[in-house]
Amino acid sequence: VAVETLVYEGKAKRLYSTDSDQVLLMEYKNSLTAFNALKKGEFEGKGQINCEISTLLFRELKKNHVSSHWLETVPPNKMRVLRTKIIPLEVVVRNRIAGSLAKKFKLHDGDLLQKPLVEFYFKDDALADPFVSNEQIECFGWATREEIRQLQTMALQINQILIQVFHQCRLNLVDFKVEFGRLTSGEIVLSDEISPDSMRVWDAATGERYDKDRFRLDLGDVKTGYNEILQRLKLALGGLQ
Ligand code: UDP
Repeated sequence: VAVETLVYEGKAKRLYSTDSDQVLLMEYKNSLTAFNALKKGEFEGKGQINCEISTLLFRELKKNHVSSHWLETVPPNKMRVLRTKIIPLEVVVRNRIAGSLAKKFKLHDGDLLQKPLVEFYFKDDALADPFVSNEQIECFGWATREEIRQLQTMALQINQILIQVFHQCRLNLVDFKVEFGRLTSGEIVLSDEISPDSMRVWDAATGERYDKDRFRLDLGDVKTGYNEILQRLKLALGGLQ
Protein backbone atom coordinates (compact mmCIF):
# COMPACT_ATOMS: atom_id res chain seq x y z
CA VAL A 1 0.00 0.00 0.00
CA ALA A 2 1.25 3.50 -0.81
CA VAL A 3 2.29 5.82 2.02
CA GLU A 4 -0.57 7.64 3.76
CA THR A 5 -3.42 5.92 1.96
CA LEU A 6 -6.73 5.97 3.76
CA VAL A 7 -7.29 2.44 5.02
CA TYR A 8 -10.29 2.99 7.30
CA GLU A 9 -12.75 5.74 8.11
CA GLY A 10 -14.87 5.56 11.25
CA LYS A 11 -17.29 7.95 12.94
CA ALA A 12 -14.63 10.04 14.68
CA LYS A 13 -11.31 8.90 13.21
CA ARG A 14 -9.49 8.02 10.03
CA LEU A 15 -6.64 5.53 9.68
CA TYR A 16 -3.87 5.85 7.10
CA SER A 17 -1.10 3.46 6.13
CA THR A 18 2.52 4.60 6.58
CA ASP A 19 5.91 3.53 5.24
CA SER A 20 5.96 0.86 7.94
CA ASP A 21 3.70 -2.16 7.75
CA GLN A 22 3.37 -2.17 11.56
CA VAL A 23 2.45 1.50 11.92
CA LEU A 24 -0.74 3.41 11.11
CA LEU A 25 -1.49 7.12 11.26
CA MET A 26 -4.69 7.85 13.19
CA GLU A 27 -6.47 11.15 12.52
CA TYR A 28 -9.09 12.52 14.90
CA LYS A 29 -12.04 14.09 13.08
CA ASN A 30 -14.26 16.98 14.20
CA SER A 31 -17.43 14.90 13.97
CA LEU A 32 -19.16 13.20 16.87
CA THR A 33 -22.11 10.82 17.01
CA ALA A 34 -24.34 9.38 19.71
CA PHE A 35 -27.05 6.75 20.09
CA ASN A 36 -25.29 4.34 17.72
CA ALA A 37 -24.75 7.08 15.13
CA LEU A 38 -28.41 8.22 15.05
CA LYS A 39 -27.44 11.67 16.39
CA LYS A 40 -24.68 13.45 14.48
CA GLY A 41 -22.74 16.64 15.13
CA GLU A 42 -19.34 18.29 14.91
CA PHE A 43 -17.36 21.24 16.17
CA GLU A 44 -14.22 23.04 15.09
CA GLY A 45 -11.17 21.88 17.02
CA LYS A 46 -12.79 18.71 18.34
CA GLY A 47 -10.29 16.42 16.62
CA GLN A 48 -7.38 18.33 18.11
CA ILE A 49 -8.85 18.43 21.63
CA ASN A 50 -9.55 14.69 21.62
CA CYS A 51 -6.13 13.91 20.17
CA GLU A 52 -4.47 15.98 22.90
CA ILE A 53 -6.54 14.41 25.70
CA SER A 54 -5.86 10.93 24.33
CA THR A 55 -2.14 11.75 24.10
CA LEU A 56 -1.94 12.90 27.72
CA LEU A 57 -3.78 9.79 28.92
CA PHE A 58 -1.87 7.29 26.77
CA ARG A 59 1.38 8.92 27.95
CA GLU A 60 0.33 8.63 31.59
CA LEU A 61 -0.70 5.00 31.09
CA LYS A 62 2.64 4.24 29.44
CA LYS A 63 4.46 5.74 32.46
CA ASN A 64 2.46 3.27 34.53
CA HIS A 65 3.46 0.32 32.32
CA VAL A 66 0.17 -0.12 30.45
CA SER A 67 1.05 -1.01 26.87
CA SER A 68 -1.00 0.61 24.15
CA HIS A 69 -0.83 1.12 20.42
CA TRP A 70 0.26 4.76 20.88
CA LEU A 71 3.76 5.59 19.58
CA GLU A 72 3.82 9.37 19.22
CA THR A 73 1.54 12.27 18.50
CA VAL A 74 1.76 14.27 15.29
CA PRO A 75 0.13 17.62 16.11
CA PRO A 76 -2.43 18.93 15.82
CA ASN A 77 -4.74 15.92 15.49
CA LYS A 78 -2.88 12.77 14.47
CA MET A 79 -0.97 10.00 16.19
CA ARG A 80 1.27 7.23 14.99
CA VAL A 81 0.00 3.94 16.39
CA LEU A 82 0.91 0.27 16.12
CA ARG A 83 -1.29 -1.73 13.78
CA THR A 84 -3.47 -4.14 15.75
CA LYS A 85 -6.30 -6.54 15.03
CA ILE A 86 -9.12 -5.08 17.07
CA ILE A 87 -10.97 -7.44 19.41
CA PRO A 88 -14.63 -6.61 18.59
CA LEU A 89 -15.50 -5.64 22.15
CA GLU A 90 -16.29 -2.40 23.91
CA VAL A 91 -14.80 -2.91 27.35
CA VAL A 92 -16.70 -0.64 29.74
CA VAL A 93 -15.47 0.16 33.24
CA ARG A 94 -17.82 1.82 35.70
CA ASN A 95 -17.16 3.42 39.08
CA ARG A 96 -20.59 4.98 39.42
CA ILE A 97 -24.08 4.34 38.11
CA ALA A 98 -24.89 6.24 34.88
CA GLY A 99 -26.18 5.89 31.35
CA SER A 100 -27.48 2.54 30.21
CA LEU A 101 -26.86 0.94 33.63
CA ALA A 102 -29.08 3.48 35.41
CA LYS A 103 -31.77 2.92 32.80
CA LYS A 104 -31.60 -0.88 32.68
CA PHE A 105 -31.81 -1.38 36.46
CA LYS A 106 -33.57 1.84 37.46
CA LEU A 107 -30.60 2.80 39.60
CA HIS A 108 -29.71 6.28 40.74
CA ASP A 109 -27.36 8.31 38.52
CA GLY A 110 -24.06 9.05 40.24
CA ASP A 111 -24.27 6.44 43.01
CA LEU A 112 -20.94 4.75 43.72
CA LEU A 113 -20.70 1.04 42.92
CA GLN A 114 -19.42 -1.31 45.64
CA LYS A 115 -16.39 -1.91 43.41
CA PRO A 116 -15.44 -1.05 39.80
CA LEU A 117 -17.47 -3.03 37.29
CA VAL A 118 -16.08 -4.33 33.97
CA GLU A 119 -18.58 -5.18 31.24
CA PHE A 120 -18.21 -6.36 27.65
CA TYR A 121 -20.37 -5.19 24.75
CA PHE A 122 -20.20 -6.44 21.17
CA LYS A 123 -19.00 -3.60 18.94
CA ASP A 124 -21.78 -3.37 16.35
CA ASP A 125 -23.82 -0.21 15.74
CA ALA A 126 -26.47 -2.04 13.69
CA LEU A 127 -27.13 -4.29 16.70
CA ALA A 128 -26.83 -1.32 19.12
CA ASP A 129 -23.72 -2.82 20.81
CA PRO A 130 -25.42 -5.67 22.72
CA PHE A 131 -24.10 -6.82 26.12
CA VAL A 132 -22.12 -10.05 25.74
CA SER A 133 -21.26 -12.56 28.48
CA ASN A 134 -17.77 -13.95 29.11
CA GLU A 135 -18.98 -17.38 28.07
CA GLN A 136 -20.41 -16.02 24.81
CA ILE A 137 -17.09 -14.28 24.05
CA GLU A 138 -15.29 -17.59 24.58
CA CYS A 139 -17.79 -19.66 22.61
CA PHE A 140 -17.83 -17.22 19.68
CA GLY A 141 -14.03 -17.47 19.55
CA TRP A 142 -13.46 -13.75 20.09
CA ALA A 143 -11.10 -14.28 23.03
CA THR A 144 -9.94 -17.19 25.18
CA ARG A 145 -10.80 -17.44 28.87
CA GLU A 146 -7.26 -16.32 29.74
CA GLU A 147 -7.48 -13.37 27.37
CA ILE A 148 -10.83 -12.33 28.88
CA ARG A 149 -9.20 -12.35 32.31
CA GLN A 150 -6.35 -10.27 30.91
CA LEU A 151 -8.81 -7.75 29.43
CA GLN A 152 -10.54 -7.43 32.80
CA THR A 153 -7.23 -7.00 34.62
CA MET A 154 -5.95 -4.40 32.15
CA ALA A 155 -9.26 -2.51 32.20
CA LEU A 156 -9.20 -2.29 36.01
CA GLN A 157 -5.55 -1.25 36.00
CA ILE A 158 -6.32 1.52 33.48
CA ASN A 159 -9.24 2.56 35.67
CA GLN A 160 -7.02 2.96 38.76
CA ILE A 161 -4.53 5.11 36.87
CA LEU A 162 -7.24 7.28 35.28
CA ILE A 163 -9.09 7.71 38.61
CA GLN A 164 -5.86 9.15 40.08
CA VAL A 165 -5.26 11.43 37.12
CA PHE A 166 -8.79 12.82 37.14
CA HIS A 167 -8.75 13.15 40.92
CA GLN A 168 -5.81 15.55 40.51
CA CYS A 169 -8.06 17.50 38.12
CA ARG A 170 -10.93 17.63 40.63
CA LEU A 171 -12.94 15.40 38.29
CA ASN A 172 -14.81 12.18 39.01
CA LEU A 173 -14.34 9.38 36.50
CA VAL A 174 -17.82 7.88 36.32
CA ASP A 175 -17.24 5.36 33.54
CA PHE A 176 -15.37 4.84 30.28
CA LYS A 177 -15.03 2.53 27.31
CA VAL A 178 -11.79 1.12 25.94
CA GLU A 179 -10.91 -1.20 23.10
CA PHE A 180 -8.07 -3.66 22.83
CA GLY A 181 -6.21 -5.12 19.87
CA ARG A 182 -3.69 -7.86 19.15
CA LEU A 183 -0.23 -7.11 17.77
CA THR A 184 1.18 -9.56 15.20
CA SER A 185 2.98 -11.22 18.13
CA GLY A 186 -0.44 -11.90 19.68
CA GLU A 187 0.21 -9.49 22.55
CA ILE A 188 -2.93 -7.64 23.64
CA VAL A 189 -2.57 -3.86 23.90
CA LEU A 190 -4.89 -0.95 24.58
CA SER A 191 -6.02 0.53 21.23
CA ASP A 192 -8.43 3.13 19.83
CA GLU A 193 -8.64 6.34 21.92
CA ILE A 194 -9.44 7.57 25.41
CA SER A 195 -11.32 10.83 25.10
CA PRO A 196 -14.48 12.60 26.32
CA ASP A 197 -16.30 10.78 23.50
CA SER A 198 -15.89 7.53 25.39
CA MET A 199 -15.97 8.48 29.08
CA ARG A 200 -18.07 10.26 31.66
CA VAL A 201 -16.26 12.84 33.79
CA TRP A 202 -18.08 15.07 36.23
CA ASP A 203 -16.82 18.01 38.22
CA ALA A 204 -16.04 16.62 41.68
CA ALA A 205 -17.66 19.57 43.46
CA THR A 206 -20.67 20.51 41.30
CA GLY A 207 -21.33 17.34 39.29
CA GLU A 208 -21.25 19.32 36.04
CA ARG A 209 -20.73 17.00 33.07
CA TYR A 210 -17.92 17.82 30.68
CA ASP A 211 -18.09 14.73 28.44
CA LYS A 212 -20.20 13.55 25.49
CA ASP A 213 -23.36 13.55 27.62
CA ARG A 214 -23.41 17.30 26.92
CA PHE A 215 -23.96 16.37 23.27
CA ARG A 216 -26.21 13.36 23.91
CA LEU A 217 -28.51 15.22 26.30
CA ASP A 218 -27.99 18.83 25.13
CA LEU A 219 -26.54 19.87 28.51
CA GLY A 220 -24.42 22.77 27.27
CA ASP A 221 -21.72 23.78 24.84
CA VAL A 222 -19.82 20.60 23.97
CA LYS A 223 -16.52 22.26 23.05
CA THR A 224 -16.45 24.15 26.37
CA GLY A 225 -16.83 20.85 28.23
CA TYR A 226 -14.14 19.01 26.26
CA ASN A 227 -11.79 21.96 26.57
CA GLU A 228 -12.32 22.09 30.34
CA ILE A 229 -11.14 18.48 30.60
CA LEU A 230 -8.09 19.21 28.41
CA GLN A 231 -7.06 22.34 30.32
CA ARG A 232 -7.34 20.60 33.70
CA LEU A 233 -5.33 17.61 32.42
CA LYS A 234 -2.63 19.93 31.09
CA LEU A 235 -2.42 21.68 34.45
CA ALA A 236 -2.17 18.38 36.33
CA LEU A 237 0.12 16.49 33.97
CA GLY A 238 2.06 19.22 32.20
CA GLY A 239 1.70 20.12 28.53
CA LEU A 240 2.05 17.84 25.55
CA GLN A 241 5.86 18.03 25.24
N1 UDP B 1 -19.51 4.22 25.49
C1 UDP B 1 -18.79 4.41 24.32
N2 UDP B 1 -19.28 3.89 23.16
C2 UDP B 1 -20.44 3.20 23.08
C3 UDP B 1 -21.16 3.02 24.29
C4 UDP B 1 -20.67 3.54 25.46
O1 UDP B 1 -17.73 5.02 24.33
O2 UDP B 1 -20.82 2.75 21.99
C5 UDP B 1 -19.01 4.79 26.76
C6 UDP B 1 -19.90 5.90 27.26
O3 UDP B 1 -19.44 7.16 26.80
C7 UDP B 1 -19.76 5.77 28.75
C8 UDP B 1 -19.51 4.29 28.99
O4 UDP B 1 -19.05 3.79 27.75
O5 UDP B 1 -18.64 6.51 29.20
C9 UDP B 1 -20.73 3.53 29.45
O6 UDP B 1 -21.78 3.77 28.55
P1 UDP B 1 -23.24 3.18 28.76
O7 UDP B 1 -23.20 1.69 28.69
O8 UDP B 1 -23.85 3.79 29.97
O9 UDP B 1 -24.00 3.58 27.45
P2 UDP B 1 -24.61 4.98 26.99
O10 UDP B 1 -25.50 5.43 28.10
O11 UDP B 1 -23.43 5.85 26.75
O12 UDP B 1 -25.34 4.60 25.74
